Amino acid sequence: MAASPIGFGTVRRVTDTQAVGAQVPLVDYLVLGDSPHLVANQCTSCGARFFDRRNACAGCFGTSFEKVDVATDGIVRAFTIVTFAAPGVAVPFVSATIDCGGTSVRGNLVDVEANPEHVTLGMPVTLKTYSMGTDDNGTEAIGFGFAPA
Ligand SMILES: [Zn+2]
Repeated sequence: MAASPIGFGTVRRVTDTQAVGAQVPLVDYLVLGDSPHLVANQCTSCGARFFDRRNACAGCFGTSFEKVDVATDGIVRAFTIVTFAAPGVAVPFVSATIDCGGTSVRGNLVDVEANPEHVTLGMPVTLKTYSMGTDDNGTEAIGFGFAPA
């Protein structure tokens, strides 16, 4: 199966009887399906949100968390244009912090030229998933970024 970009909200149509490969998200907190979105672990005491699993809240030391959906639309709060990276990593790219309805999300910007003329603070963006490649068993890895809204 050839790798192909999967746009946000698009549906893959299966037109033959070939086994359909599974999709796996690059990170645990990315939920795929018809409406891809991120999920955070929210402290039930103070509401602080974390994408990794915590034993205790960094804000209030609470130990109880619940899964919550994170807004898929946000605005760019901070960014840096990365021009040097490890071999094999295409540069330049934009690493950003996105305010998604009050939840701070780190991710790369996609579908935008990586220069200060095209990336600005306060720019509205929306979550976008994309194929990172397919292995020999047809399992496709899905990553996420944020594209201009
Ligand atoms: Zn807390």
